[in-house]
Amino acid sequence: MKLLLILPKSERGYWGKVSKSGKAGFVRLNLPTIAALTPNEWDVEILDNRVRPVDYAAKPDLVGVTGFTSEIPSAYEIADNWRRAGVTVVMGGVHVSAMPDEALAHADSVVIGEAELVWAGLLDDFKRGELKKKYKADRLCGMEGMVIPRRDLLDRPMFSGFYTMQATRGCPFNCDYCAVTAFFGKEFRVRPVADVIDEIKGFGAKEFFFMDDNIVGRAKYAKELFTELIPLKVTWGSQASVTMAKDPELLRLYAASGGKYAFIGLESLSQKNLDRMHKSWNSAKGFKEAIEKIHDAGINIIGSFVFGLDDDDPTVFKTTLDFIMETKLDAAQFHILTPLPGTVTYGVLEKEGRIIDRDWAKYHTGEVVFQPKGMTVEELQAGYHWIFRETYTIGSILKRSLRSRRGLIYRIAANLSYRKKALKMPKAGGNQGSPDLL
Ligand code: SF4
Repeated sequence: MKLLLILPKSERGYWGKVSKSGKAGFVRLNLPTIAALTPNEWDVEILDNRVRPVDYAAKPDLVGVTGFTSEIPSAYEIADNWRRAGVTVVMGGVHVSAMPDEALAHADSVVIGEAELVWAGLLDDFKRGELKKKYKADRLCGMEGMVIPRRDLLDRPMFSGFYTMQATRGCPFNCDYCAVTAFFGKEFRVRPVADVIDEIKGFGAKEFFFMDDNIVGRAKYAKELFTELIPLKVTWGSQASVTMAKDPELLRLYAASGGKYAFIGLESLSQKNLDRMHKSWNSAKGFKEAIEKIHDAGINIIGSFVFGLDDDDPTVFKTTLDFIMETKLDAAQFHILTPLPGTVTYGVLEKEGRIIDRDWAKYHTGEVVFQPKGMTVEELQAGYHWIFRETYTIGSILKRSLRSRRGLIYRIAANLSYRKKALKMPKAGGNQGSPDLL
């Protein structure tokens, strides 16, 4: 029997696009993991629609489609096409788990939550012709003995970041706008260190990315993992929380094990904003000192900021840019607050009647889909484009990158890559809010 698993492309937005050379970014592990959970009797194919078109003339027995919220309109279109061709479609993932009834208008069946616990049962039911509409994982899956994702089913040259890993799931925090805890639960789960090391040894690459939402979410575990990584002489990056700056040993091991960079969600320089989004453990006052400590340990920081929070007014963009320059952040990513279904932010903005656009394709954190409090929709959109462009001028790149000779080439290369995106953003007074230009 033939199973075709499809990752859709995002029609709008600034991230996840295919480069001029035809490569997608990081490999996502969701479909290779589903493939690994599928019994051998199935012939499984993974199709990443970002790099390959869908061939509706093929005759799979079953199609599985997933996607983030901004990709879901594409995912629904793909699902509709397959169903018109008479093929049964199953959908799952973060968005589908939050909006299962919406997804059921496009699929024969949906998986709610992590697929590990229900996938084999779903396939059995399908074979017997007894597929149910909903398969809901009734608990979180354990991380011992997890399957190794079927990377062999992916076309390696089509990805710029082929080797990605997962050591933990979830995050010990619960920020209002984040879908991580909504999907993965409040429990921070970790894989046995030996399993992680075996998987890394298995793919034999010297450079990879941990897809974890917060690799330092449990300091004791992170230290054990980093200690075991040292002999492998690899380089890696991940997402991490700024709290790691408080633990010198954790910083030392992060760097010593090859941790070259960390994506850190600083999110806002307003403590009021941080408190409101239940991110009080992020202390705006402590950011500068924390950044210094992380830099001193030899770790580059890609800081992430969210705009449009209730305490933000139009001055937030200039204040944030000044902070980035003063602290010589190695790079920064910016996001417009986006009420992703399933999150607390979605519930709050929905209740307050502030969601103004429900085109999921715009939910890629680069377009305004809600009514902000402290500025107009246009000011928020224009400010987002402005700070992106200003952060990645050649002058700004040099000033920040030259903070130290260590890792200079890496920093310049990363900044030039962000600059390519920034240059495609509309200038003030230009074609605002037209990501289709990208
Ligand atoms: S710290 Fe990051 S991953 Fe964790 S809940 Fe907050 S935004 Fe999400």
